[in-house]
Amino acid sequence: MKDTLTDIQTFRTDLLVWFDQYSRDLPWRHKGGAHPIPYHVWLSEIMLQQTTVQAVKSYFEKFIDIWPTLNDLANAKDTEIMDAWAGLGYYSRARNLHKCAKTVIEQHNGKFPEEEAALQSLPGIGPYTASAIASIALNNPSNVVDGNIERIMARLYTIQTPFPEGKKEAKEKAQSFVGSFEGRHSDYVQALMDLGATICTPKSPKCGSCPVIEHCMAYATNSADVYPKLSPKKVKPKRFGTVYIVRDDMHVYLERRPKTGLLANMLGFPTSEWKPVDAVEKGSYNVKHVFTHFELYLRIEQKTESFLQEGMNKGIIEKYVLKDLHTDKKLPTLFKKVLNQI
Ligand code: SF4
Repeated sequence: MKDTLTDIQTFRTDLLVWFDQYSRDLPWRHKGGAHPIPYHVWLSEIMLQQTTVQAVKSYFEKFIDIWPTLNDLANAKDTEIMDAWAGLGYYSRARNLHKCAKTVIEQHNGKFPEEEAALQSLPGIGPYTASAIASIALNNPSNVVDGNIERIMARLYTIQTPFPEGKKEAKEKAQSFVGSFEGRHSDYVQALMDLGATICTPKSPKCGSCPVIEHCMAYATNSADVYPKLSPKKVKPKRFGTVYIVRDDMHVYLERRPKTGLLANMLGFPTSEWKPVDAVEKGSYNVKHVFTHFELYLRIEQKTESFLQEGMNKGIIEKYVLKDLHTDKKLPTLFKKVLNQI
């Protein structure tokens, strides 16, 4: 990609013509030229943090179905939101979602503020999400750069610095496009996101179908697969523990976990503490789950009801009909894995 204005102008045309024809049909997208709804953009962006579009679609539709407006969401109960979110992971997002909805209703007359700084002061909205809302919902020329856009920049410009260090350079390169999409900045951002999701994919990019092939240095040097270059991965630390199953034929006891800590306020099976060294030597494990910062290995142990009175659990114990749990999706993924083993 040459950094000349002419090249960027042609790039703009090539990208937008393609977007007008091939943009993805997503449940939070505005249709037929209508303005995007900030509530939908915000909700989708929060859900999409750390999660794929495919996984988010049904959750987004469920939320909009239960809480059609921001006001409805703000008035929901915490536990209703946590239960509807179960399975999407990174549960602090759901807690902040509720806080943010309440803040926008109470302090901003129910409207998301237009300035990025004000958006960033809202619960759960960091610089990236503020930039995405400003760009997509409000058409503000903000330099929003997600993983798709980073990858496209790395390829267009053959960025040599390995990622994640190279992300800074990708963001600088993306900045040069920001002013050139006046009037259609929202579409520019979504077009690049679509390009990254459908054409300029992490593996085996479909360069033959790419609207910006003429601008791409990686393609010109036959090296699309090489970019972005990556630094060697760090190995995640491990933690170990026990998950306790207390049940009869029909029911099982779950714990509404404490309000702070990992998986806070979510439903789950009671567990021991998760420690870096296993208390049981040569333990074999029934469940493995990967969190952002560590891998968790749990062994399953059956216990009787008297165990629940021994005070090992820290949250509130609730009794559930076992077969309902398989269908009503209240459990986060870790505990779904446990459920599937009992
Ligand atoms: Fe990506 Fe290939 Fe398009 Fe370059 S030509 S932007 S590598 S899909």
